[in-house]
Amino acid sequence: MTAIESLAVSLAPLGELRRDERLARHTTFGVGGPADLFLTVRSAEALAAATNAAYEADVPLFVLGSGSNILVADAGIRGLVLDNRARAESASGLTYRVESGASFAAFARKMCRLGHEGLAWAVGIPGTIGGAVVYNAGAYGGCLADVLRRVRLQLPGNGDEWVDAKDLGLVYRGSAFTRREVAGKAVLEAELELAEGDANALTAQAAAYDGKRLTAQPRGRNAGSTFKNPPESPAWKLIEAVGLRGATRGEAAISDKHCNFFVNNGNAAAADVAWLIAEAQRRVKEQFGVSLEREVEFVGEW
Ligand SMILES: Cc1cc2nc3c(=O)[nH]c(=O)nc-3n(C[C@H](O)[C@H](O)[C@H](O)COP(=O)(O)OP(=O)(O)OC[C@H]3O[C@@H](n4cnc5c(N)ncnc54)[C@H](O)[C@@H]3O)c2cc1C
Repeated sequence: MTAIESLAVSLAPLGELRRDERLARHTTFGVGGPADLFLTVRSAEALAAATNAAYEADVPLFVLGSGSNILVADAGIRGLVLDNRARAESASGLTYRVESGASFAAFARKMCRLGHEGLAWAVGIPGTIGGAVVYNAGAYGGCLADVLRRVRLQLPGNGDEWVDAKDLGLVYRGSAFTRREVAGKAVLEAELELAEGDANALTAQAAAYDGKRLTAQPRGRNAGSTFKNPPESPAWKLIEAVGLRGATRGEAAISDKHCNFFVNNGNAAAADVAWLIAEAQRRVKEQFGVSLEREVEFVGEW
C-alpha cells in the first residue's frame, strides 16, 4: 500500500474523503487542478486528528480555508488537502472562541448585530478565521491583530497548544505562518476580544464598508488584492501606469475596474493568471524600480 492509500484508510472516519478533487471548485478564483486526497472536516478535533495522520504518514498537508487568497497550480496539490469546515463558537462575555473554519465575514457581521465592537471593517473579507490569522487580514484601517488574543495550534504529531497573538508576529498581511516559521501547524481555534459598542452604529458602519467594496471592487471570480501595497504607491496605480489595466491572457484578466484585482473570466488556467502576475511585476520593476510583493499565495505543483 502506498503512503497515500494507507493515509486514506486512517482519514476515512474523520470526515468526507474524496480523491482527485478539482480545487477549482474550492477557490474563489475558480482555478486549480486536483488534490490527491481531499478531506472535509467539521470540527477542530477532526482537523487536529487529520493533521496528525498526515504527519505520521509523511504525506504533505495543505489546510484549505475558503480558498480566497490562493492560486492553485493547474497540476493541483500533491498529498492531502484538508477542507476546514470546523465552525463551532462559544463566548464568555465579550470574549469569543471560534473554530478556524468559521466564516470571518459572517462572524464579523454577527458581532456588529450584537453591538460588539472591533470587526465592522471585516464584514466583506471572504475567508475563514484560520485564513484571517495566517494573513492578519485587514481592511479600512483595522486588522485581526486588534482583536485577536490567542490561537490554538495543532503541532504536527504532538498535541496542541495555545499561543498568544503577540507571539505570532502579526504584521501587514503577514505572520509567522506566511514567513514559514510555524511550518506544518494548523490553526484550530482563535480567541477574540470584542468591546461594548452600539449595534445600530456598527451595522451602519458595516453597510458603509459594503458600499465601498461594491463601488471599488470587481465582481466575478478573483482572490482580492493580488499584491501588497508597496510604501511608494498603491499597487493598482503602478499596474495602471504600466499600461496593464484590462490586460488579458487566455481567460484571465487584470480587472479594468481595479487593477490590483486579477480575474477569471470563465475557465482561466492558473498558468495564465500567473503569467499576468509576473508581467505586472516585471513592468513595474522596469519602469519604477518597485518590487511588487504578492499577497495571493501560489500553492501546489508549479
Ligand atoms: C473579493 C475579495 C476581497 C478580499 N478582501 C480582503 C481584504 O479586504 N483584506 C484582506 O486581508 N484580505 C482580503 N481578501 C483575501 C482573503 O479573503 C483573505 O486573505 C483571507 O483571510 C483568506 O482566508 P481563507 O480562509 O480563504 O484562506 P485560504 O485562501 O484558504 O488559505 C490561505 C493560506 O492560509 C492557510 N490556512 C488557512 N486556514 C488555515 C488554518 N486553519 N491553519 C493553518 N493555515 C491555514 C492556507 O494553508 C494558505 O496557506 C479578499 C479576497 C477576495 C476574494
